[in-house]
Amino acid sequence: MHNSTKEWVGSLIRAHVSSSHQNRLRIAPSLCIYDEPLVGFVSGADPLWVQYKAIIGEFHPTPAELFRETTGNTVGGNDLTVISWILPFTHTIVSSNATQTDGPSEYWAHGRRDGEVYNDLLRAYVAAELTGAGFEAIAPVLGPGFTTLTDEQIGLASTWSERHAAYAAGLGAFGLSGGLISRRGVAMRCGSVVARLKLQAARVTRPKRRGYCSFFQDGSCRACASRCPAAAIRRDRGAHDKARCQEFSRSIRARIEKLYGIPGGESSGCGLCQTGVPCSERIPSGISPVLS
Ligand code: SF4
Ligand code: SF4
Repeated sequence: MHNSTKEWVGSLIRAHVSSSHQNRLRIAPSLCIYDEPLVGFVSGADPLWVQYKAIIGEFHPTPAELFRETTGNTVGGNDLTVISWILPFTHTIVSSNATQTDGPSEYWAHGRRDGEVYNDLLRAYVAAELTGAGFEAIAPVLGPGFTTLTDEQIGLASTWSERHAAYAAGLGAFGLSGGLISRRGVAMRCGSVVARLKLQAARVTRPKRRGYCSFFQDGSCRACASRCPAAAIRRDRGAHDKARCQEFSRSIRARIEKLYGIPGGESSGCGLCQTGVPCSERIPSGISPVLS
């Protein structure tokens, strides 16, 4: 992929985020859900995709496997590029949740829900634009094979991890809370498409897997664990208990529906571990990123 193609894809995504009326809170249409996105690229042949089979699970496909399963076309990893983006929640939404203690703020709950509807729209848009320009593209989480599952080793998982795709594209590093800390912080959502495009340079410079989290640097911080009302972030083991987190989300659904009028209280995640913490909107100060 030439730099001009990368620039074109990046500006396509940034322009959509800045102009789409779907990137607005339905309860407060003057407010955007997401700020300007970060966009990264990684070759389908990057060795990390194969390593993910050991890290995430055998069920997690390489881009080439996913492309074949979805389109029926066999394409080498070298001829595929994963385009990943980070959508940082706006400061208004993040700060509204920063003082919450036992559940999400109204803006966070709505932003989390409306924001993922928008993210799906963006996934479909980027895939369609690329395909229209002659670069066949798919959005993994919108594909027919995408599903969530419970794995014996790692617990709750999905057949395409947007966070791991963003890490592969050099957009961030994992924190104690399990979130991906990007240059714009951990309070964000991410998305990706796989396109039939060849990257010129196959190698991406990325941080160490946990290189942006203070806890993994020197054992300090742990603010996300202290903020979690479900004790789902285990300081001792450095792990995020996704089942416990989901159980807590379920337990507050009736309250969310009653308080904020969200049908069924569907909002997936209170986000307390991503707000009111040093990595909410930036890489924590004092961190010197180590690149792998
Ligand atoms: S709040 Fe602190 S310990 Fe938790 S992920 Fe962020 S930097 Fe790491
Ligand atoms: S989103 Fe989950 S892990 Fe994070 S604070 Fe809420 S319950 Fe805890």
